[in-house]
Amino acid sequence: MPFKRKNRGRRKGDKGSEGTVQCDNCGAFVPRSKIQRVTTRVSLVRGDLARELKQMGAYIAENVVVKNLCISCAIHYGVLKVRSREERKQKPFI
Ligand SMILES: [Zn+2]
Repeated sequence: MPFKRKNRGRRKGDKGSEGTVQCDNCGAFVPRSKIQRVTTRVSLVRGDLARELKQMGAYIAENVVVKNLCISCAIHYGVLKVRSREERKQKPFI
């Protein structure tokens, strides 16, 4: 059977069945190997104020936010891009 991608859009290999994870944006249940995990650092202080405080030598802690996105949400937010047919075959999808 022909495949659109070398790893069939997942990274589980020949592992068999696996659990599902809920997308943090749309709530869809997606296989664990298909999820796109995005880590962002969110500062609790506003940008201009944080810059000023950093210049004064203050340490500003940042929150680390980890989000699990399904593929369609990841494409919507620009985490992934739609690739051409040749490009899809070259390297792993995720
Ligand atoms: Zn989603």
